[in-house]
Amino acid sequence: MNSKPETTPDPEVTCSDCAAACCRQQAMLFDDRGVPDHFVVTDSRGVASMARLADGWCVALDRATMACTIYEKRPWICREFELGEEECLAARAANYGCPDR
Ligand code: SF4
Ligand code: SF4
Repeated sequence: MNSKPETTPDPEVTCSDCAAACCRQQAMLFDDRGVPDHFVVTDSRGVASMARLADGWCVALDRATMACTIYEKRPWICREFELGEEECLAARAANYGCPDR
């Protein structure tokens, strides 16, 4: 069963005018074997996530290009994140350098 709500992605949304808002959110790891260990932090509950810098962006983000430096090995949760869907719009609305739509 797919527990994700059915939404229709907004076709007008593009990553080209977004400062990688989704990469400024916690990206938890679920049995992700390809992520390099030095990019991973584990909290007191044992939950592993991508480490983030003080400004919130993921340590694996290239700050010059705002592209993922481990794209081929990025976590499952990053692979599942869909452009134009609800979570994308919410991340953009949190105003991480993206204009409102
Ligand atoms: S939040 Fe959405 S528009 Fe922005 S980079 Fe991520 S997928 Fe692209
Ligand atoms: S692993 Fe890559 S896609 Fe995932 S949050 Fe970090 S920079 Fe973004």
